[in-house]
Amino acid sequence: MNDKVVADFIANPLSSPWSYMGRDMADILNAFLEAAACKASELNGPAVDKALQSIVPRMKKVRLSDAPKMIGGFLEWAGKSLLLPNANALAKEAVKRGEELAREDEAKRQPVKVGDAEPGRNDPCKCGSGKKYKKCCGVGK
Ligand SMILES: [Zn+2]
Repeated sequence: MNDKVVADFIANPLSSPWSYMGRDMADILNAFLEAAACKASELNGPAVDKALQSIVPRMKKVRLSDAPKMIGGFLEWAGKSLLLPNANALAKEAVKRGEELAREDEAKRQPVKVGDAEPGRNDPCKCGSGKKYKKCCGVGK
């Protein structure tokens, strides 16, 4: 059932704003429905939230900003086409929540800024080895 729902959405012109995502669109939607862990016809708010929490961290970084809107578009379409009668009501909240999660996740994915200050020679080494800096990465400095 889920596969067919996803394929029907992708074939529908309503999904065209996101067609540039290519195969990722189906992957994200399948993962979304799978993570909702229910029949697509039983989607509800908590299931949508659970699904978003599960799939956002697995998304490619370039999809983080647009995928929530795409999922919202999917839910709207699914509600209108009466495949998932409840879905339309969930769309707005799903976009909002998805964008919130995506922002949090994107912040986490920023590379950790390594402090540029060198530790003192007798301070613990910044590599976390537990040795003194002068006997570890600071040898010869
Ligand atoms: Zn070290």
